[in-house]
Amino acid sequence: MKIILANPRGFCAGVNMAIESLERALELFGTPLYVYHEIVHNRHVVDRFRKRGVVFVDHIDEIPSGGTVLYSAHGVAPEIRKASQERNLRAIDATCPLVTKVHLEAVRFAKEGYTILLIGHEGHDEVVGTLGEAPHSILLVQDEREVAALDLPDDAKVAFLTQTTLSVDDAEIIIRALRKRFPQIVGPSRDDICYATQNRQEAVKDLVPEADLVLVLGSQNSSNSLRLAELAKSHGRAAYLIDSVHEVKDEWLRGMETVLITAGASAPEEVVQECVSFLCERHGATVESRTVREEHVQFPLPRELRLISV
Ligand code: SF4
Repeated sequence: MKIILANPRGFCAGVNMAIESLERALELFGTPLYVYHEIVHNRHVVDRFRKRGVVFVDHIDEIPSGGTVLYSAHGVAPEIRKASQERNLRAIDATCPLVTKVHLEAVRFAKEGYTILLIGHEGHDEVVGTLGEAPHSILLVQDEREVAALDLPDDAKVAFLTQTTLSVDDAEIIIRALRKRFPQIVGPSRDDICYATQNRQEAVKDLVPEADLVLVLGSQNSSNSLRLAELAKSHGRAAYLIDSVHEVKDEWLRGMETVLITAGASAPEEVVQECVSFLCERHGATVESRTVREEHVQFPLPRELRLISV
């Protein structure tokens, strides 16, 4: 058996920054420390922090007045910031700057009188946050059918934005449908899909023709990880999204000569390495690391933590 280890894979700059922020906040403020939603969509990362006393909440009113709250990498709606202020919370904003960029675009388009068509997945934390920036000006579209069903005149003043972790190919199809129906539509030059999502998809696309089976390390609620597994399947390969090697079933591996391994942007490298070790030890696999694109992106810690650090 041969393993092809895809590069880039795993942690992106936004996830690194969010995790470092939580580490730093723990050092500075100790527990109890509250995080609004999962810090990143990964079970291992969340469980590890939970064991150290971090409390993950879905509602601001679960946090005692005067407490410390950290906003996750996916961002929050303005009403959450307001609710935190009203409860007198110390808020640390670990929103990924690439998500903040989409929020700012939403605010700008709304101010300029556009109806914003946000391409994204209903209920995802990031989408909820972006919708909250201009709730009366944004409509969510999830596929071509929803583009056709939009209750807007064809000459409407419209703009589009996208979630950062979409499938590049699916987003392109929806953007094409939007441009066809609303030729006057404005938006980012291509889309708002982040570099990390694009690069991980590009690596799978390039390497999947050589593989019989694709293992994607990541949690089921991680949008960018799900998209990697879907992409591999769309190329006719068996592909599984798994949180750890313990989920691998013997029958998946039967007769497989080449296994492509990758990881979503919120999956830690150690779960990848556990998977590699398992295949090497149990199936005599050899490992070939393949780099499709270099990444050198880094984001600074949130302002609130930088100010305290100096
Ligand atoms: S996946 Fe992209 S948008 Fe999300 S945290 Fe990482 S870099 Fe930021």
